Amino acid sequence: MTSQIKIQSLSSWLPAAALPLVIAGPCSAESEEQVLSTAEGLAKIPQVMVFRAGIWKPRTRPSSFEGVGKKGLRWLRKVKQETGLLTTVEVAKPGHVREALDHGVDILWLGARTVVNPFSVQEIAEVLQGADIPVMVKNPLNPDIKIWIGALERLNQSGITKLIAIHRGFSFFNRTPYRNAPMWEIPIELKTIFPELSVFSDPSHICGETGMLLPTSQKALDLEMDGLMIEVHIRPGEALTDREQQITPDQLKELLDGLILREESGTVEFENKLEELRSEIDKLDEELVDILAQRMRIIDEIGKYKKKNNITILQLKRWNHIIHDRVNAGVKLGLSREFILKLLETVHEVSIQRQTEVMNRKEGLNPTPEPEENNYPDGNDAHDTRYDQE
Ligand code: PEP
Ligand code: MN
Repeated sequence: MTSQIKIQSLSSWLPAAALPLVIAGPCSAESEEQVLSTAEGLAKIPQVMVFRAGIWKPRTRPSSFEGVGKKGLRWLRKVKQETGLLTTVEVAKPGHVREALDHGVDILWLGARTVVNPFSVQEIAEVLQGADIPVMVKNPLNPDIKIWIGALERLNQSGITKLIAIHRGFSFFNRTPYRNAPMWEIPIELKTIFPELSVFSDPSHICGETGMLLPTSQKALDLEMDGLMIEVHIRPGEALTDREQQITPDQLKELLDGLILREESGTVEFENKLEELRSEIDKLDEELVDILAQRMRIIDEIGKYKKKNNITILQLKRWNHIIHDRVNAGVKLGLSREFILKLLETVHEVSIQRQTEVMNRKEGLNPTPEPEENNYPDGNDAHDTRYDQE
């Protein structure tokens, strides 16, 4: 994927006093007292540079608390005056942007429910034309990196160059221990495409509860995320939104003290050892690719052989044997059952595609039909043997 976004480096407009750089504050602004006392607690923590609070809350059901609205912006102005913290709010409509800019909010953010909708993002981008304000873009609800990038591009086209992406996890149909599955590969891909873009993690919305905040924050740092957004409430038990995932300022301090900051690169001795291990990996990967190519050549042979003998066999026993045998072998060598199954499933899928291609090839007459992307009719359970040709 090719894309270019003009980005001003984070350190040029938000220098960190202490690492990791933290944006913290309540899910929602609820009262002036709640906002100010939370901010007072946070201002004592050197890593916290920005105070967050939702003023307009996108809620699932209309009868829920939908935020205090405009009056919350005056409380945020007080936070800034009294603590020196920068302030940020979520904006979902052009009207929100205008109000926030009028009240001197320092940074805006687009929430996961807004980013999924290019119409909303475009409207917000248009009203931001010419404004020199930083904007943070949360990942969309669904795991679609393109729509996340699209939102960053729309803002950039309006001249917004102080951009941060916020990874808050994804709605996922499978049950996971998280409220929103982190799918770390997606923010990592975003960082790979835009190395100059800062990506923060929002462990509060990923976890949905407080018990997993520390390991999830640690993982974010170990994966070189550039900062954290964490929900903090002076009395989490009374919070009107996201009650289960908020912590107190003291708990945030404890959490941050518990994080281990690792170096991105080390001493010469360390780098040499790492280089040695990496070249071993390179060699093994080369062998792995070679073995896969060999396996596929044999798959093609089997296809041709079956075709020549006009045989189509549903080899239930064979596939069950492969799974059983390879999983056992892998487990004995310390690999997880899930990993081997996933790997076999991928190899099997490609094998089927190649055999289908060989079997359907009309020699000398028509060109080979394109193989289908997925030969499984519904889902791709590795145990589905109906289409097994191997
Ligand atoms: C929030 O930050 O409180 C919020 C609503 O987040 P998200 O858009 O990630 O759900
Ligand atoms: Mn929240």
